[in-house]
Amino acid sequence: MAQLSDDCFAFGGPLLQVADAERLIAERLSPVAEIETIGLRDARGRVLAHDLIAPVSLPPFDNSAVDGYAVRHADLAAMGETRFPIGERLQAGNVSVRAIGPGTAVRIFTGAPMPPGADTVFMQEDCRVEGGDVILPPGLKPGANRRKQGEDVKAGSVVLSAGCRIGPHHVAMASAVGMTGVDVRRRVRIALFSTGDEISEPGQPLRSGTIYDANRPLLTELARTLGADVTDLGILRDDVAALEAALVRAAADHDLVLTSGGVSTGEADFVRAALERVGTLTFWRVAIKPGRPVALGVLRGGDAGQQAAFAGLPGNPVAAFVTFARIVRPMLLRLAGAAPEPLMALPVRAAFSYRKKEGRREYVRVSLKPAAGGGYEAIKYRQDGAGVISSMTETDGLVELPEDVTSVEPGASVGYLSYATIMGCN
Ligand code: AMP
Ligand code: MG
Repeated sequence: MAQLSDDCFAFGGPLLQVADAERLIAERLSPVAEIETIGLRDARGRVLAHDLIAPVSLPPFDNSAVDGYAVRHADLAAMGETRFPIGERLQAGNVSVRAIGPGTAVRIFTGAPMPPGADTVFMQEDCRVEGGDVILPPGLKPGANRRKQGEDVKAGSVVLSAGCRIGPHHVAMASAVGMTGVDVRRRVRIALFSTGDEISEPGQPLRSGTIYDANRPLLTELARTLGADVTDLGILRDDVAALEAALVRAAADHDLVLTSGGVSTGEADFVRAALERVGTLTFWRVAIKPGRPVALGVLRGGDAGQQAAFAGLPGNPVAAFVTFARIVRPMLLRLAGAAPEPLMALPVRAAFSYRKKEGRREYVRVSLKPAAGGGYEAIKYRQDGAGVISSMTETDGLVELPEDVTSVEPGASVGYLSYATIMGCN
């Protein structure tokens, strides 16, 4: 499991900026060490353990980029059209055994190897065929429509770097250079539970004073999308002994124990008391809204005192979501050995006004719609509450307002993070 020092999440200061939180995570967590070789068909969502070196070049040989006629450019008429007899016919997969004759055109199709000596390909749409001849227009540059060997990838070069989270396009590259499998790190193991006497399990009757669990499904799917294996430990009551036992068990065979609820000021005692007996706890008062303090810690579990990182998120679902995106996501990527993937907010126009505190990063739930003058405008959801679950399902993403901003007026350019970006694989 993880190699962590007890004080690895310590920081000196009352309020932690999001950027500093990201830096601390990168410095203080290390990736899981175990590596396995898996087939390409199972590679999606896994993290590459070593650089992938191309054994072959792409393309492996010079070939035609179009359907048309291959020629030697030097043979073309200096001015006006050129008439050449059509020689050989080369489809993709055919290899010409002889060099192109002087003053002839080879009928060639996309992907077919260039016949020796030919350097330029005319698109068939630009040519006329008369009997056995083709009439080629003037003005084509030497080398046009020819794909050079190695212009995409040179044999021996790195095509995918260690830390790459493998998506469909990466699988395509690995296959294109002839790989059948890749070396990846093992999946990060997460133990997840919800806390709170008021949380009920769907499928059970809704007891009075209780609500159904939203956070466990939310966090399960967010973590899975990042490639983690999630062990569902259910709902824990606000009870120190039960929490302590669950934390110790979970720490034995997981890299990260993730909880929601029970970390707000005044109510933190259950989690705090349990953690202090089986590990250490640091409260990160991250300068982020929504998102109250996030509890981070190191747990010791099992007979061998195995270690696991601990992250306790706030109970309100929107706060849990935002703190997952900003704190847990980088933790998971780091533990998984993935290269950091900063969330890049794209500019859109605000269609709302907003006041905020300086020094804090705030997230506004918005819907996006095409703006009159081009681009997109962001419409703020009518309810701001951190517990309003429909504010997530009825919107498209978050506007991210940086620390130095204190107000936003309609028409201002603001940074937008789509839910697809935040939740998505690559
Ligand atoms: P807490 O952080 O425990 O003070 O919870 C803050 C708010 O979030 C309370 O209204 C809780 O009922 C609610 N909450 C806590 N856990 C969950 C959960 N798993 N699903 C939905 N709401 C929750
Ligand atoms: Mg609670």
